[in-house]
Amino acid sequence: MRYNLLIDGTQVPADRFIDVINPSSGEVVGHMPLATTDDLDRAVAAAAQAFKSWSKRSDADRAAACRAIAEAITAHGEELAQILTREQGKPLNGLGSRFEIGGAVAWTRHTGELALPVEVLQDNEEGRVELHRKPIGVVGSITPWNWPVMIACWHIIPALRAGNTVVIKPSPLTPLSTLRLVEIINQVLPPGVVNVVTGDNELGAALSAHPGIAKMTFTGSTETGKKVMASAVATLKRLTLELGGNDAGIVLPDADPRAIVEGLFWGAFINNGQTCAALKRLYVHDSLYDEVCQALVDYAGQIPIGDGLDEGSILGPVQNAMQFAKVRELVEDARAQGGRILTGGEPMPGPGYFYPITLVADLDNGTRLVDEEQFGPVLPIIRYSDIDEAIAKANDNPAGLGGSVWSSDPEKAKHYAKQLECGSVWINKHGAIQPNAPFGGVKQSGIGVEFGVEGLKEFTVSQTVLS
Ligand code: NAD
Repeated sequence: MRYNLLIDGTQVPADRFIDVINPSSGEVVGHMPLATTDDLDRAVAAAAQAFKSWSKRSDADRAAACRAIAEAITAHGEELAQILTREQGKPLNGLGSRFEIGGAVAWTRHTGELALPVEVLQDNEEGRVELHRKPIGVVGSITPWNWPVMIACWHIIPALRAGNTVVIKPSPLTPLSTLRLVEIINQVLPPGVVNVVTGDNELGAALSAHPGIAKMTFTGSTETGKKVMASAVATLKRLTLELGGNDAGIVLPDADPRAIVEGLFWGAFINNGQTCAALKRLYVHDSLYDEVCQALVDYAGQIPIGDGLDEGSILGPVQNAMQFAKVRELVEDARAQGGRILTGGEPMPGPGYFYPITLVADLDNGTRLVDEEQFGPVLPIIRYSDIDEAIAKANDNPAGLGGSVWSSDPEKAKHYAKQLECGSVWINKHGAIQPNAPFGGVKQSGIGVEFGVEGLKEFTVSQTVLS
């Protein structure tokens, strides 16, 4: 099927298309329209026109629009989940497509109910000072291929709720679910408030450099995030950057391996490890190292991996050829560096980019699998004997998205957790994001936060009114 762009509330056919591939089978799922720079200009102009009235709508109106969007996504939930599984690979079941659509709805509902009332900073005989929050203008949104529908909602909904309009560009690897999502959203919004353009990476560069865009919200790799930041300079665009992570988890000597194994496993392997805030390096105390390794191997052995459309699959393939090659390369390098493969370690027979859950013991900082973001179904497990040294190793990385500490004593765990250099830290769980908890990276994992009132503020500029 050939999809259309959606600009100013209207389906816009393209002249050229790119095939979108199902990573489970290699089959073509649909054809992504290639937007031209004229299409991009039209989308930005439509959003700028729509901004004039959307930004003046009442708060109650905009909250009601978010509720209507949540209803519309819910009504089309299964259809969206099917498209998502076909293009992304993640299973319908488990923590897969249906879970992702459910998350998109939950975030939409929560964000719709947030408010940014005027703050009175001073009110006395010397005068009154009020802090107002105003929408910024046209927001450009660029999303990655790992959680395309949920991340699109993380960008679109707070932007709208605060009174902005949007031009979104999804990843060329998973564009179809976003094209359909925006079509569904447009059923309940005035034309031009949300527009979608699709194309290759150059279209992303053109969007982030476009002078009509007032703010960029970008989720993707650190490398691309730096380019987006550079292209914001000319017009001093506002930026939210949610970038790559290399989250460390630290298991303290008093943890119970069998009690924590499920949380450790899903912290690392949700969406096959293709999750920004997945557990990507696990540091385990020497006294329970072998037991934790064995518990993880046993747990991994029960997980059915297969075509995402098969209702029995709990994990699917790696999403694309490049990522598949990267995972293979990192595992080979780990093996060559003396890593002990506890399970997995060789690609599964094709078709599709299937790679088994892979656990690698006996590595340390200084090997690629530990130092780099693997973004796939492989976890290095590192032995430590001194907690301060483990924390130093966890922090010895340019990324700073998430982290976790695992212990039978939550207060002790919190004591160490606070020493980790990252934007979110979890105790006895990992990556458990929620719509009321600000989420973002420190160091090279990003700038700014998403979610909750703090996230909503990022889609506004402040105006101080003094009288
Ligand atoms: P990517 O950086 O390759 O691509 C992300 C998006 O940027 C895509 O839409 C792509 O087309 C676009 N793009 C590519 N070049 C561009 C350019 N020069 N200018 C503007 N846009 C451009 O990332 P990916 O491989 O799709 O996603 C995986 C990465 O995203 C991982 O590093 C992961 O950790 C990160 N991620 C972070 C978060 C977070 O919240 N921090 C969430 C999900 C993914």
